[in-house]
Amino acid sequence: MSSSTSTPAPTPERAVELRANLSEIRDRVKSAYANSPFACSTKEPVLVAVSKYKPASDISGCYEVDQRDFGENYVQELVDKAGQLPQDIRWHFIGTLQSNKAKTLANIPNIYAIHTLTSQKTATALNKYLPETRTTPLNVFIQVNTSGEDNKSGLAPSLPPTSESSELLDLAKHIVHECPRLHLLGLMTIGSLTESLHAKEAGENRDFDVLVRTRDALEVCLVKGEVVGGKGKWGDEQGRLVLSMGMSADFEAAIRAGSGVVRVGSSVFGARPKKEELDSK
Ligand SMILES: *Cc1c(COP(=O)(O)O)cnc(C)c1O
Repeated sequence: MSSSTSTPAPTPERAVELRANLSEIRDRVKSAYANSPFACSTKEPVLVAVSKYKPASDISGCYEVDQRDFGENYVQELVDKAGQLPQDIRWHFIGTLQSNKAKTLANIPNIYAIHTLTSQKTATALNKYLPETRTTPLNVFIQVNTSGEDNKSGLAPSLPPTSESSELLDLAKHIVHECPRLHLLGLMTIGSLTESLHAKEAGENRDFDVLVRTRDALEVCLVKGEVVGGKGKWGDEQGRLVLSMGMSADFEAAIRAGSGVVRVGSSVFGARPKKEELDSK
């Protein structure tokens, strides 16, 4: 990065703070994984540092200590940051996604994954607008509303044989069959705050359990439909759908439940300003 004069840099104090936070979270990820039932059978979970509302200089500070996966919630903010920061960053889009923003997102050269896909229309648009020059497919996670709360987006976790029609299965098949430039990597949930607070005491989190069971059932449906994973059709190298679950408050519980990607914001970067405070500026 020293070769570039335009890359924003944090103050020395901020750099020290970011390194300390990141190193603590990395240790906690490692130890939760080492103590989970999956320690021998799966890869260590990926830590996505969620940098929404935080300056590009904060991202540079983390990049300097080898952080490469960053998550953003707003398309324009992501475009602005991606333009200023190194090209080997893997950008994860984790915000609400409308199909009219698909073109902008698809044209970010180093967009790595979309975690919040909920419609065939948006999948089709992403697939259409991904540039010819891109050599790897864009990873997508389907967002599942595991808590059933009205204020959360995501598809219902219902799948055959328990339910007749399934938006979730239809979207998964649509991605695999109709969208060759997308790769269905897994499922994502945000989960309810109540659950994650409760889980701290009880040790289990209903949202995470629901996502695990939904993943298992969806894999069975895909295999029955003879859409086999593991060879580039869907899932990771082992042919498993990856779970994107766990945030600052509950990422260790998520890892114990089998999460493959945790999205951690405030524990790395500090508290965010409230949306209203930003809007009034
Ligand atoms: C903001 C956000 C996060 C990070 O939340 P923290 O509690 O700050 O770790 C993770 N996932 C999504 C979808 C988010 O919007």
